[in-house]
Amino acid sequence: EAPKGPEARARRWRRILYWIPVLFIGLLLGWSYYAYAGQLCVVSMENIGEQVVCLIVYHLLFAMFVWSYWKTIFTLPMNPSKEFHLSYAEKELLEREPRGETHQEILKRAARDLPVYTRTMSGAIRYCDRCQLIKPDRCHHCSVCDKCILKMDHHCPWVNNCVGFSNYKFFLLFLAYSLLYCLFIAATDLQYFIKFWTNGLPDTQAKFHIMFLFFAAAMFSVSLSSLFGYHCWLVSKNKSTLEAFRSPVFRHGTDKNGFSLGFSKNLRQVFGDEKKYWPLPVFSSLGDGCSFPTCLVNQDLEQPSTPAGLTPAIKNLEGHQFPSKPLRESQSHLLTDSQSWTDNSTNLDKGKVGKKDNLCSFVLKDEKLNLMVHVKCDLL
Ligand SMILES: [Zn+2]
Ligand SMILES: [Zn+2]
Repeated sequence: EAPKGPEARARRWRRILYWIPVLFIGLLLGWSYYAYAGQLCVVSMENIGEQVVCLIVYHLLFAMFVWSYWKTIFTLPMNPSKEFHLSYAEKELLEREPRGETHQEILKRAARDLPVYTRTMSGAIRYCDRCQLIKPDRCHHCSVCDKCILKMDHHCPWVNNCVGFSNYKFFLLFLAYSLLYCLFIAATDLQYFIKFWTNGLPDTQAKFHIMFLFFAAAMFSVSLSSLFGYHCWLVSKNKSTLEAFRSPVFRHGTDKNGFSLGFSKNLRQVFGDEKKYWPLPVFSSLGDGCSFPTCLVNQDLEQPSTPAGLTPAIKNLEGHQFPSKPLRESQSHLLTDSQSWTDNSTNLDKGKVGKKDNLCSFVLKDEKLNLMVHVKCDLL
């Protein structure tokens, strides 16, 4: 049943208004098609070869642009799975308890078996009051969508959608193809644009389309290339836009490169393992969006006195340490093909990890740890 009242009406209106930027891009795209394919290629080009090549390349770029844009807009953002939601009993308990210490205790207990490694600035469990769930790592609540969004990057008005785990690859491709689209138009339109100023063009309406086409393409090329460049940097560092502004906080403290696994693995996390899917807006990102491998040393292995927790020997040997709590099958794929991690922390003989110990030489009492070290060495 549709909700009534002025508030609901305002919400409905807002939802319609949010589509205006998308409509604007759609109209602009439609006009650019008419201006380029119609007025420039068909009406103004005299060389048949040039005409054919321009039309073929243009349609290819146009199709990829529209496809990736469409996918970015209409791919629903992913929300945290059921296990992150508090149970009814836990919610009751939270409501009864005043904020503070006990509140945290309840949340800590609820988060015990979840693959959650990030904390709030004050070190507390990240909890969303609105959705009543424990926020997975890299998940944020979007005030526009009014939902928690997995690996939220930002809410983008130009696609009227949240850019996050489910559509980040599509968003990158949208930026890439729209940039190529604009660059191609600007490059092939340039000579006609010059003719316009030197009065070499016949006085038809095509003249004005050709002029505005060049202006628009050049202008969008500049802004898109800076945005695309920025996102390439983010992907290479495995950061979301939100994380670039505020570094994630882990149990041992803030780490701005906490999710980075090195360039090639960072790229694969977004684009997947199969190169043939990289240029296509089909979902191929690795993981489930709820948990992410981190390069941080297992908190439980650490000596409390070492601030970053990285004993030199361990740091040298394994740049990448993985969480001790279970990661989901799909996520562990980035680490190894067949194994998902089980909780090693309780089985570890902490005395074995001294500052002077080389990881390879330390006695492996535990089979799981053995496997862990083995896989880590493979990753280096
Ligand atoms: Zn939320
Ligand atoms: Zn949103």
